[in-house]
Amino acid sequence: MIRVYRALFSSAGVSKNVAKIAFASSWSGNETLAEDDPEMWSLLNEEKARQVQGLELIASENFCSRAALEALGSCLNNKYSEGYPGARYYGGTEVIDKVETLCQQRALEALNLDPEKWGVNVQPYSGSPANFATYTGLMKPHDRIMGQDLPDGGHLTHGFMTDQKRVSATSVYFESMPYRLDPSTGLIDYVKLRETAKLFRPQIIIAGTSAYSRLLDYKTFREICDEVKAVLMGDMAHISGLVAAQVIPSPFEYADVVTTTTHKTLRGARSGMIFFRRGVKGHDKKGNPIMYDFENRINAAVFPSLQGGPHNHAIGAVAVALKQAQTEHFKKYQQQVLKNAQAMAKALIKKKYSLVSGGTDNHLLLVDLRPKGLDGARAEMVFNRVSITVNKNTCPGDKSALSPGGLRLGAPALTSRNFKEKDFEQVVEFFDQGISVVADIKAASGNKMKDYKEYLSSNSAVIERMAALKKEVNKFASQFPMPGFSDH
Ligand SMILES: *Cc1c(COP(=O)(O)O)cnc(C)c1O
Repeated sequence: MIRVYRALFSSAGVSKNVAKIAFASSWSGNETLAEDDPEMWSLLNEEKARQVQGLELIASENFCSRAALEALGSCLNNKYSEGYPGARYYGGTEVIDKVETLCQQRALEALNLDPEKWGVNVQPYSGSPANFATYTGLMKPHDRIMGQDLPDGGHLTHGFMTDQKRVSATSVYFESMPYRLDPSTGLIDYVKLRETAKLFRPQIIIAGTSAYSRLLDYKTFREICDEVKAVLMGDMAHISGLVAAQVIPSPFEYADVVTTTTHKTLRGARSGMIFFRRGVKGHDKKGNPIMYDFENRINAAVFPSLQGGPHNHAIGAVAVALKQAQTEHFKKYQQQVLKNAQAMAKALIKKKYSLVSGGTDNHLLLVDLRPKGLDGARAEMVFNRVSITVNKNTCPGDKSALSPGGLRLGAPALTSRNFKEKDFEQVVEFFDQGISVVADIKAASGNKMKDYKEYLSSNSAVIERMAALKKEVNKFASQFPMPGFSDH
């Protein structure tokens, strides 16, 4: 027997919609997704197939483990626990307290931090909220911040604005001044950064990037911060897995606070964390200790200033990933990420591609397509149709963020599928075939994007070529294991 529930949604009396939801009367809540919602179940399967059959080269993505996904899809989702372990606004939090405390402990262990000197907040919902909470805790409205400009490899949340618009809320509520790359080298221009910092006198300088293939000079950042009395904030969202495995330099040596996501190279569930120095900062003239005051300010900014109930299912899943991050297996994985990024760079250079800064020291690289007369937007369109997932990305000197000159390619996700150097050489073969399609369409369709799009979706020879490449890519990718869901 089927009972029909009618749910009435009305938005401010403007429109009225009647949604009919049919449930079997024996509904218990223990039905599988396939039974309960075949439509969503089939979308999940579609997405699984896309992930398994495609080449995932987006530098910020990864494949989370089954164990962490189990914690993520668990009863931890159900619990409200506003507050912090031992001081909650809800009852029934005795287990959640253990979950959050375990996550904090593992976070400090995974990043090799002394709990006397560092604390961590694991409640931010993601990387962007972690950054905004840090600003909220450490600055007053209209205080000043300096971060790497978005088109030069920084992140939106570092204060991105254009001539027309203050895009990031960071640039709305605070005053932001970007620093940039030296276009001739593709490296951060530390000389200009120092000059600008002395003029702008920011409260916070951020050392952290989303699309920069080189290591950061944290020591120089620290010196500049000391010269202008700014807080040094490391944003290791992209590289936290590499930092945990100690295969690249760590921001913790020099930074005052460090924010991160947990789902990029760290390979956990989607969430965010803020690390802050605690304990004795120094001594005054009389020899009395001066203490760091970050802890209370940052904790209060996360809750109650910005967030409500913590996502305990995410915190539980992050704790699982942080345990994995302390294993030898994880260290080998991160070493392989670096080797694979190198192999990809080498193979691209061999095929005469131009890389921003000439190569990579981390998990990603930027291919500058401008020397080939191509651009990232056109390339991305073709790659989308051949199951190769990449981002278009600005290159130093690009005039418009709408038609960026290059592509960002990362090794973390495919390395989680056990890709080795020779597999990345094959990936570059596929990439090169994709680019030759891009070049041919551009040559045939001229300079207008509209004509390019039309040619791409109507020329039968091109469509056939893309279909053939996609088939090869799918066959190749499907051979590799897929963490998280083994049932493919
Ligand atoms: C990805 C990223 C963020 C934001 O993370 P979300 O989880 O997407 O909000 C912040 N900073 C940097 C440097 C990033 O790369």
